[in-house]
Amino acid sequence: MAEMTVQVVTPDGIKYDHRASMIVVGTPDGEIGILPNHVDLIAPLSVHEMKVERADQEHTVNWVAVNGGVIEIKDNQITIIANSAERKRDIDLDRAERAKARAERDLEEAHAQHSADQVRRAQVALQRAINRINVGNK
Ligand code: ATP
Repeated sequence: MAEMTVQVVTPDGIKYDHRASMIVVGTPDGEIGILPNHVDLIAPLSVHEMKVERADQEHTVNWVAVNGGVIEIKDNQITIIANSAERKRDIDLDRAERAKARAERDLEEAHAQHSADQVRRAQVALQRAINRINVGNK
């Protein structure tokens, strides 16, 4: 059966590297499911939970918190390049909860100061924290 290789690369190194029969990623235009023999593609990614159905272990699904970045699909090789990404098992839930609380405080303050830049930054930090919490709780 056809399969794909999925690698998630961050400045800290390769965070995920397995063979998959299907993946689902989030883009600014919505979720896309990718099966083997997908057309070559480069697309931006949102902060999202990537689902990977493993090709080597039937019925095994992996979840990875992907914090934006870019996906490249070429000849059944999928490369995701992101500033940060964590597998479910590597997520520190307490840290993510603290980050969420901090981002919520920052967001309130940013709104009070009418600072669009600060609002945007706090919203992105909040999305990252919520995404980690969601993946960590899978
Ligand atoms: P924090 O505010 O908790 O530092 P952050 O969103 O600012 O979170 P990033 O800058 O996205 O963190 O990531 C910095 C490094 O810390 C990356 O290597 C990322 O994978 C890791 N990281 C961030 N949050 C967590 C978490 N909750 N569990 C495990 N690793 C994390």
